[in-house]
Amino acid sequence: MIMICPGCSCLCDDITIKDGKIFNACRRGEEIFGRYKENRARAMVDGKEVDVDAAIGKAVEILKEAKNPAIYGLDTTVVEAQKLAVELAEKLNAYIDDNSSFCLGELVEAVLKKEMPTATLDDVRDNAYVIIYWGSNPFHSLPRHMSRYSYYPRGAKRPRGYDEDRYLVVVDVRKSETAVLAKKNAKFIQVDDDAELVDSFFKAMDGKAAKYAQDVGIILNEMKKADFNVIFGGLGLKYGLKDLKMFVELVKKLNEVAPVYFIPAGFHANMRGFNETLFEKTGYVNKYSFRDGSSDDSFAFTELLMNEKIDAALIVGTDPIYSLPHDVSAKLGKIKTIVVDPRMSFTARVADVVIPSAISGIEMSGTMVRSDGVRIKLEAIEEREVNDIHILKKIMEGL
Ligand code: SF4
Repeated sequence: MIMICPGCSCLCDDITIKDGKIFNACRRGEEIFGRYKENRARAMVDGKEVDVDAAIGKAVEILKEAKNPAIYGLDTTVVEAQKLAVELAEKLNAYIDDNSSFCLGELVEAVLKKEMPTATLDDVRDNAYVIIYWGSNPFHSLPRHMSRYSYYPRGAKRPRGYDEDRYLVVVDVRKSETAVLAKKNAKFIQVDDDAELVDSFFKAMDGKAAKYAQDVGIILNEMKKADFNVIFGGLGLKYGLKDLKMFVELVKKLNEVAPVYFIPAGFHANMRGFNETLFEKTGYVNKYSFRDGSSDDSFAFTELLMNEKIDAALIVGTDPIYSLPHDVSAKLGKIKTIVVDPRMSFTARVADVVIPSAISGIEMSGTMVRSDGVRIKLEAIEEREVNDIHILKKIMEGL
């Protein structure tokens, strides 16, 4: 059986399961396929076990009574469920947000608005010469990114592989595991401030002196040798720059020198699917309020919680108690929380309502969007009836 792994936004499509053994997956993928039956959520209301219909009924009651509800998460579920969640948010006049509001949403939005040229990972594998990982350490976040799509594979126009046909650049604040690979035909730039590196690129292109002029001059010369170069931007890029617009301008300017494409390197399996789904509906990728008809930083789930702007939250497939700072997640205790999750997460353990769901891509078929925007159909190993789609439909019907 050949499967697609929903472990990260690489969505590897070569996972083979034979005689109970898992082949080709990285360690994270292996865990997903090998241990998906463990730590499963149970239907709960106020800490007591109930049946699924009773939990859904209580969720409906909470959402009906809420004056300012929010829907949050959704980055690990399929597009079909994300669409339903957006419809539900519209019906409730609610806020809707996902992890991309503190991850790579802004960069994805720039790509969707065509402010930066982009490409597919398959194009990268076949054509890319200079490959820049900027603020991204795929060794941890996207374990097979370099081996399947970027640096290591031989491509149609890069037949001699990484040793001669690729030029690797890693930009980071520390010598990450990915930076350690930058040896031959490569450059590691350790930055204190990403803005200084952006500034150095601009100045070098204008023939002016700059802090990183020497490194940048070498990279620009390498880019000129090829008709395809790529920058993968990760969380370090997002948090390294106060204003991402200067990065968008840089990518545009680099294209005056040589073709340079940008691809976000976010790790949630279907974060881009959520961004695209909301963008199609509203023109924004995250932190959206249907009541206000707009997106704003103050509508990010973390801000809504911190500022006590919501009285109920429907949390789908994410674990804010695990991932958000304690002072933010502690505010969940002040509102009604409904968790839809396959696993008994930290948030599920304290939620008012828990609705156990299926694991997307393993127990529920559907579509996910790879980090480069390619839509991938995932087929379940075994379909579970009570999945995110079923649950969100039932909630919608109940309202
Ligand atoms: S790289 Fe990501 S998609 Fe590929 S096997 Fe690992 S976790 Fe799964």
